[in-house]
Amino acid sequence: MAGFRELLAKAREHVREIDPAGAEEHLNDATFLDIRELDEYEQGMIPGSLFIPRGHLESQVENRIADKSAPVVVYCASGVRSVFAAETLTELGYTDVVHMAGGFGRWKNENRPWVTPAVLNPEQRNRYSRHLLLPEVGEAGQQRLLESKVLLLGAGGLGSPAALYLAAAGVGTLGIVDMDVVDESNLQRQILHNVDRVGERKVDSAKKTITLLNPDVDVVTYDVRFGADNVLDMLDGYDAVVDGTDNFPTRYLLNDASLLKRIPVVHGSIFRFEGQVTVFKPYEGPCYRCLLPEPPPPELAPSCAEAGVLGVLPGIIGSIQALEAIKLLLDLGDPLIGRLLAYDALEESFRTFKVRRDPLCPACGEDAADIVIAEYDDLCLPHATLADGTSTAH
Ligand SMILES: [Zn+2]
Repeated sequence: MAGFRELLAKAREHVREIDPAGAEEHLNDATFLDIRELDEYEQGMIPGSLFIPRGHLESQVENRIADKSAPVVVYCASGVRSVFAAETLTELGYTDVVHMAGGFGRWKNENRPWVTPAVLNPEQRNRYSRHLLLPEVGEAGQQRLLESKVLLLGAGGLGSPAALYLAAAGVGTLGIVDMDVVDESNLQRQILHNVDRVGERKVDSAKKTITLLNPDVDVVTYDVRFGADNVLDMLDGYDAVVDGTDNFPTRYLLNDASLLKRIPVVHGSIFRFEGQVTVFKPYEGPCYRCLLPEPPPPELAPSCAEAGVLGVLPGIIGSIQALEAIKLLLDLGDPLIGRLLAYDALEESFRTFKVRRDPLCPACGEDAADIVIAEYDDLCLPHATLADGTSTAH
C-alpha cells in the first residue's frame, strides 16, 4: 500500500508545474482554478479565479470549464492539493493543466495581485441554498444576480409574477415603472397587490410586497409615465428590461431606447387566453420593429382596447419572462432570442416560432437611419410623431 508521500510523488510524475511568476503571465489567457475550501477562499483569491472546492471538483468542473483543451492553472494554499487536483483534471480529459507551486501562500508572499472575494453571508447562503446546489448558478452566479439590475415596465399582470420571482431569486435591484393606482379590478391577476392596497400607488404597493419577500432587493420606483423625455435616463445602468406593458406606443419607445442603450428586453404579451414571450437582444437577434415594423391600425390592435384576460395566464407568461431574464443575467442555456414562444391556455399548448432579424428593419437594419427617440400618440397611429424634448443619439 502506498503512503501519502509515494502518492504525491507518483502524481507529480504526471502533472506539470508552474511557479507563481510563470503563472502570473497567464492571468488573462488561462482559467485559474482555486480548489481550496470556502473558508480559505473567503480570505483572498487570485483575481478572476474559478472556485470549486476539491471535494466538488469531479462533479462540477465539466459544467464550469466546458472546453477541455483550454489552459487551466490549478492552485491551492501550498501546492500539494493542487497536484492531486491537476492529476484528476488530466484523468477527466483536460489537456492543458498546470499546478502552481507554492500555492496561494507563495503567490501572496511574492506580492502578486489578489482580492477578497464578495461572498454570501450565512443568511444568504441559506436563502439561496437551492441555487447554490446548481453548479450552473453556484455562489458566483448568486453573487452575479445580487449585483444585477432589472427594470420592470409595469407592476400589473405580467410585472407582478416577474417581480416576485426575480426578487425571490435574489436579483439585487429591481426598478419598477408604473403610474397607476391599485384598483379592485386588478386583483384578479396582479398578485403584487391586495385589498389593503386599493387606492395606493402601484409602485409603492409593489415595493412593500417585494421587500416583505426579500429584503436583499433594492426596489427603485418610478411613479411616472414612461415617455420619450425620460426613457433613456430610466434605462441607464440596467442589465435587462422585462416589458409588461400593454400598448404599442410604449413598446416602440422601449425598443428604440433599448437598441440605443444595447440592453436586452424580455417581451411578454397576453390577450384573452393566449400569451407570447420573446427576447430582443439588440443587434444579436431581431428587435420589436423587425417583427412589427409599424403598429397595426387601432381597430386591429387589441391591446389598445379592453379585450379581457383569463386569470393565471399572466402568471405563466410573466414567470417565463422572469426566467428568461435570469438566463440572460447568468448566461445560461438558450434564451428566446430569435424565437417567439406562443402559449394557448385553452389548448394547453406551447409553440415556438423562429423570428429573424430583418436586414431592412427601420431600427436595427444595416442601413437604418439614426434612431430617434420619439413619442407615439395614444391612438396607436402608425407613424411616430416627434414630441417636445425629443433626443437623437448615435
Ligand atoms: Zn429590428
